[in-house]
Amino acid sequence: MAILKVARLGHPVLRKLAEPVAVKQITSPDIQRLIDDMVETMREYNGAGLAAPQVHTLQQICVIEVNGNPRYPDAPSIPLTVLINPVVTPLTSEMDDGWEGCLSVPDMRGVVPRYTAVRLEAYGRDGERIDTVAKEFFARVIQHETDHLRGIVYVDRMRDLSTLTHLAEWNKHWLGHEDQDE
Ligand SMILES: [Zn+2]
Repeated sequence: MAILKVARLGHPVLRKLAEPVAVKQITSPDIQRLIDDMVETMREYNGAGLAAPQVHTLQQICVIEVNGNPRYPDAPSIPLTVLINPVVTPLTSEMDDGWEGCLSVPDMRGVVPRYTAVRLEAYGRDGERIDTVAKEFFARVIQHETDHLRGIVYVDRMRDLSTLTHLAEWNKHWLGHEDQDE
């Protein structure tokens, strides 16, 4: 396994559309190795998730995991989840504001509105079908990661940039603030 280089905001790969993975290819050594490397990279940098375009690969693959993450100490746990060719459909018009960060936008946080419930259809890493409903924080992470597959980063989803905050200032002024979600 290998820790991959993460593209940062401004790299054109973050603004491109990712291609679907052929279902027959999901179990191929190349795709399996990419998934393993993405998981290792996400864990190395304490990401809540990572999408393939962030590691310079335009394929529709995301990995998500939250388990005692020091970047998101108050976030609920999410077991390791691999999503291939995900389709996300909002199940409500209700949106919640919450803080987000991104390994491609280092040392920054911002408040992003997200749907509070989504239907998630995808393939898992063994090619199995996933069809489930995700809510709250899990729904937020899914929306953040799947946006990456369409060239969208969280700052595009902010209502305005007034909450865009350097992490050092966030720790000083926002950590433990009652409006803080994540
Ligand atoms: Zn991101």
